[in-house]
Amino acid sequence: MAHMESPQDTPVWVNTNNCKACNICVTLCPAGVLGMIEADTSILGSTISVDYPDSCIGCNACELSCPDFAIYVSRKKDFKFAKLSPDSKQRADQIVNENKCMSIKGSQNG
Ligand code: SF4
Ligand code: SF4
Repeated sequence: MAHMESPQDTPVWVNTNNCKACNICVTLCPAGVLGMIEADTSILGSTISVDYPDSCIGCNACELSCPDFAIYVSRKKDFKFAKLSPDSKQRADQIVNENKCMSIKGSQNG
């Protein structure tokens, strides 16, 4: 698959038309870069947002894990990515824990 042309000065971006808000990329991101926002135009009522672009380490985990090819990461030569910081890691851990809580609540309700 051809690599998408990256928007200037953008580490990671989303094709919101393709994103089905499955949350996989948000949970996998080791730097807590991604989040979920409400989106009236989305079938599921939400889509992802790039909340901390300056923390993106360019690991490509989001792009490689997206089942719908909806998220893209800039090439290393086009963007100077951050290094993983304690703050970023803590944010990522928090996201994972919140998701665990949500799935436990969901299984108790279901
Ligand atoms: S993995 Fe893909 S489809 Fe799922 S939330 Fe992320 S961008 Fe959207
Ligand atoms: S490239 Fe890595 S650090 Fe950047 S948003 Fe995707 S998963 Fe997170």
